[in-house]
This record gives sequence, C-alpha cells and structure tokens, in this order.
Amino acid sequence: MHRATKIVATIGPASSTPDVLLQMIHAGLDVVRLNFSHGTADDHRQRAETVRECARQAGREVGIMADLQGPKIRVGKFENGKTTLEPGKPFILDANCELGNDDRVGLDYKDLPRDLRPGDVLLLNDGIIVLDVVRVIGSEIHTVVKIGGDLSNNKGINRQGGGLTAPALTAKDMEDIRTALALGADYVAVSFPKNATDMEMSRQLANIAGAPYGIKPKMIAKIERAEAIPALQEILDASDGIMVARGDLAVEVGNAAVPALQKRMIRMARESNKFVITATQMMESMIHAPVPTRAEVSDVANAVLDGTDAVMLSAESAAGKYPVQTIEAMAAICLEAEKSEQSELDKDFLDRTFGRIDQSIAMGALFTAFHLGAKAIVALTDSGSTALWMSRHWIHVPIFALTPRTGSERAMALYRNVTPLHLDTSSDRDTALQQAIEVVVSKGYASRGDVVVLTVGEPMGQPGGTNTLKIVRVGDVL
Ligand code: PGA
Ligand code: MN
Repeated sequence: MHRATKIVATIGPASSTPDVLLQMIHAGLDVVRLNFSHGTADDHRQRAETVRECARQAGREVGIMADLQGPKIRVGKFENGKTTLEPGKPFILDANCELGNDDRVGLDYKDLPRDLRPGDVLLLNDGIIVLDVVRVIGSEIHTVVKIGGDLSNNKGINRQGGGLTAPALTAKDMEDIRTALALGADYVAVSFPKNATDMEMSRQLANIAGAPYGIKPKMIAKIERAEAIPALQEILDASDGIMVARGDLAVEVGNAAVPALQKRMIRMARESNKFVITATQMMESMIHAPVPTRAEVSDVANAVLDGTDAVMLSAESAAGKYPVQTIEAMAAICLEAEKSEQSELDKDFLDRTFGRIDQSIAMGALFTAFHLGAKAIVALTDSGSTALWMSRHWIHVPIFALTPRTGSERAMALYRNVTPLHLDTSSDRDTALQQAIEVVVSKGYASRGDVVVLTVGEPMGQPGGTNTLKIVRVGDVL
C-alpha cells in the first residue's frame, strides 16, 4: 500500500541498535530525528552511522534531522536531585544559586530576572508546575507556587504568553550545527525561532558547516513560541519547512489554542510551498502500551486530514517500550485517513497563478494526472522542487521523484505523497524516461495500458530546468 504521509521518529536508547532500527525502517520510518537536547556528539555520530547502514540494508534512503536544543531556559540542579513544591508556598528562582534546595534553585539563563515582572506566570516542566511571580530583586525571582509537584534537575521554564528574550542560538547550538553537518544531517530543526532573522542566521551557519561535505541542509523552524505565531509568514519564507511543535507551544499559548493553530500552520505552510511536520505526544501512551488510545488515533488521523506532510514521534520511539509497533500503528492510521481525504485540486487552482516554467509544468502534470485518472506521476528531478510543488496539493495519485542525487532523495523523504527513488540520468532523455516507467511498473504501481504522467527538464541534469510534460500509456513506444 502506498502511504502518502511521512513518519519522523526520534531515536534514542530504545532504538539505536541496528536490529531495532532496521525493523523501524521496514515498519515505515522515513526520517530519523536526532534530538540534540539529549546525548553526546559521539552518541549522535554513532546513531547516524547506524541509520545509514540500516538504510543501505533496507535499500531505501532515510533522511536524518538534527534537532537543536535551542535557548530553552532551564532551572539548575538540586542538592538532592529534586524538590517538591507545595501550592501557596514561596519559591525562589535565583540566577546566582549554585545548587538548589527546598527554597530556591539556580537558572541556566542568568538574565531571566531582567525579563520578568510581578504578575507574570511561569510554567515549569512542560506546564505541570505553575509559579506566580510576585517580585524580582536583583538576581532573585520571588514566586508563589500556584500548582505544585516534583521539580527535578534541569527542567524547562516557559512564560505564559511567551516573550522571554534569550538569544536564538546558543553556543551549544553552534557547536551542534557543526557536529550535525559532519555526520551528514539532511535537515536542521531550529528550536524557538522568533522571526525570519533567527532562521536566516541558522541557515548561514548550517551552510558554512555543511560546505566541506557538499550539504546545504533543509532548515526547519520549530513553531513553539507565542511570538512566532504573528511572525509565521516571515518565518515560513526564511525556512524550508516548519514543525508544529505542540509541546512548548501548548505551554506558551495554552493547550486549547493549539488545534486551531495546527490547522492554520499546516495550511499556511502548504500555500507557501513549504513542508510541515506535526509533532509531540501523537502516540504518547505507546511509550508504555503496545496499542494507542482512541484519542491518539484520532489525533494522528486529524493531522493527516489537516494536510501535514509528516507526523512525528518523540519519546515513543526514543525511549518507549514499543518503537517498532508505534511506527506500524502510525502508518496504519495514516493510510486509512488518507483514503477518506478529498482532493480539492480544482478549488486550490482557482485563484493561483504560476509564474515559473518549471512550476507551471509541475501544476500541469498534477492537473492532468488528476483528471485523466493516471496511476502515477513520475518526476525526473534534480533538486526535488518539482516534487515539492506537486506535493503541496493532495490528489490520490502517487508521485515518484527520480533523481541522481542522494541528497535530493533524502530531502524529499519528508514530502507528502512523494516516493523518492534513485535514477542515473546521465543517459539520453528517452532512455531515462523508459527506465523511470520501468521503476514504477516494477514496484507494482502501474501496469500495461495505464496512464502515467512524466515531467522532465531538457537538457537533462540542470536544477530548475523542468520544461516538459509527457503523458504515456505503459507499454507504448516513447
Ligand atoms: P522538543 O520540541 O521535543 O524539542 O521540545 C517539540 C515540541 O516542543 O513540541
Ligand atoms: Mn520544544
């Protein structure tokens, strides 16, 4: 069965052996996420190597995403590893405190007191603990516990409504960008960007770090700050894709606001020709259980119906008991949801104009395949942009993107409804087209007499050169 929605899975202690990873790839893993908030550079290097090796064995490219920790503000460490906060009691966050106790704890971001005013509400540990700021005295933030609980070492801090001004990229992030590109990351996910400048700066650093390896990674903006919402269009313009990072976003804007924001972000991303990943707690209960809850099934299905390119797993695959089963379950939900999804291609096209030749060919191919009932679209592409444009609109016709470039194959691993495949296009056009058709036929997507829509650029091998649309019946002489 052809699944259009892609699956991103974070790998970690539960999923770093070749055996488990190979099973995850067979179950439908498309892109691996290395979470730079945890683990050492060596862990990530080792995992990346294992991923490449397993992908080779599976005979399919798997993308690698390096997810930077970003300027997440955290409390320091405690003498006893943790404390318990009681509602109504005072508690101090102190930038000068070395080791915390039951009264106070340190901060990794020393300027936090400057950013806060009495009346501000702080959410710790993903919003599980809530503190009311009563006053700020020098390095000390005096609070009263509103919702208590256990607070342990290095838990995150958010302000309700957002607006904390920590710098966009930390020294650790800059170091991690170098590590990520050295291990061959195809995507870099930037945490907590506030505006286009944060993304442009990250891209510049990533391109410099990638230059020795010939990699220009795709840049992903994680939308997880309140301030990123009004800046969404400029952030999209500066990025290749976005992540609906529901974990931190929910803490800043409130849980209830997230579903509508998810729909808006997915729509805006697709209209801007960018890809979008929906992330966090999608299959949360599968950290411990072999089956998802009904609510999780609906959540994944609704993200598919919203039009997301990919759904993502975090702890479920990194540290859970059932990494392989989680991917299997997710894949099955996606497949089923896609069946019921209506194509709105004609409506999509109503008020759109296409000013580029390659984009016009891509849209022409889509329109033709949709109305002729083609079995497949086959795009011979160098950079993958033809496939990206086509995949911004949903039709029930799979798109095969054939490229001689491994980097493009891995980049397209995230595009909805696109199956990237390797094709050496150094031969003449008709031979390449013939080979392309054979690939699709051998995979069982089309057989003799079926209509297949092809796009290609002439002369071949130049990015952005798609200028030809060809409609063939399988078996006819080209
Ligand atoms: P994280 O990002 O898992 O790195 O925090 C995703 C999110 O916040 O949803
Ligand atoms: Mn986050």
